[in-house]
Amino acid sequence: MRFLRSGNKTTAGHGRSSRLIQEKLMNTTPTVWLVGAGPGDPELLTLKAARLLAQAEIVMVDDLVNPEILQHCPQARLIRVGKRGGCRSTPQAFINRLMLRYGRQGKRLVRLKGGDPCTFGRAGEEAQWLRERGVEAGIVNGITAGLAGATQCDIPLTLRGVSRGVTLVTAHTQDDSELNWAALAAGGTTLVVYMGVARLQQIQQGLLAGGMPADMPVAMIENASSPLQRQHACQLSQLCTAATAFKLKSPAVLVIGEVVNAAALAHSYSETSQLAG
Ligand code: SAH
Repeated sequence: MRFLRSGNKTTAGHGRSSRLIQEKLMNTTPTVWLVGAGPGDPELLTLKAARLLAQAEIVMVDDLVNPEILQHCPQARLIRVGKRGGCRSTPQAFINRLMLRYGRQGKRLVRLKGGDPCTFGRAGEEAQWLRERGVEAGIVNGITAGLAGATQCDIPLTLRGVSRGVTLVTAHTQDDSELNWAALAAGGTTLVVYMGVARLQQIQQGLLAGGMPADMPVAMIENASSPLQRQHACQLSQLCTAATAFKLKSPAVLVIGEVVNAAALAHSYSETSQLAG
C-alpha cells in the first residue's frame, strides 16, 4: 500500500476526505485472501500466491487444487472444502461462515481455489459477502484451466485471420437452463467450455442447431497442465461418440473453433490424440 502515501494521483491535493479514504484503505489490508492455485502444474502458481501461502495461518483448499502446491504452506492449518459438482461437497454457507469467523479473528487465511478464483470460481461473490460483513478480502489471480489447457496443447485461442476472440462459457447452470448456443455459434469466437463433461450432448446439439458447422474442430483437454493431462480432438458432429471412446472424465475443458486445427499443424498432440481435419 506504500503507493498511497507517495502523493501520487490517488491522494494528491484532495485534503481531509482523501486522507480519510487513505486511512480507511490502510486499515483494511486484507487478512483473508481468495487465491488462484492455477490449473494443476504447481509452477504455474503466481509469486504472490506463493508468498501469501507461506504467510498463512489457515488454508482452505478446494478439491481441484494440486496437493503439491501445499508445499508452500507447511506451517498452515489445512481445511479441505471440496465443492465438486455432483459429488459430496462442503456447503457454500458453511465455507462463508468459516471464512467470516477467521476473518473477524484477524487470522491470515488463504482460500485456495483451482485455476483463477474469479473464473467460474465465485470469488467475487465470496469477497462481496465478506466485505458486507466488515471483513476485507483480497483476490489473487490464477491461470484458468481453459487458457492453460489450450496453451499446453499449442492451441492459440486467438489467431490472426482465424479467430478474433475467445468466449469462456460454463455448460452447467444452477437452474439447468440452456445457454444461447445459437448466439455462441454466431459469435465466431473460439469457445472454451467449462463443466461440460456431463452435458456433451446438449453442447453438441445446441451448437449444431445454432448453425455451427458439423466439421468444426473440438479439442477436449482433461487435467490440463498436470502430469495426468490427456487431450483428444474431433469434429463437433462426433463430439459425444469421440468423448465416450476417449473415456473423457472431469475435470476437462473443451476448446471449440478453427484454431484447434492450428495445433494439428504444429503436431503438438500426444500419441493418444487423433486430430480432426
Ligand atoms: N476456477 C477454475 C474453474 C472452476 S469450475 C478455473 O479458473 O480453472 C470447474 C471446471 O473447470 C471443471 O469442470 C473443468 O471444466 C475446469 N477445470 C478445472 N481444472 C481443470 C483442469 N486441470 N483441466 C481441465 N479442466 C479443468
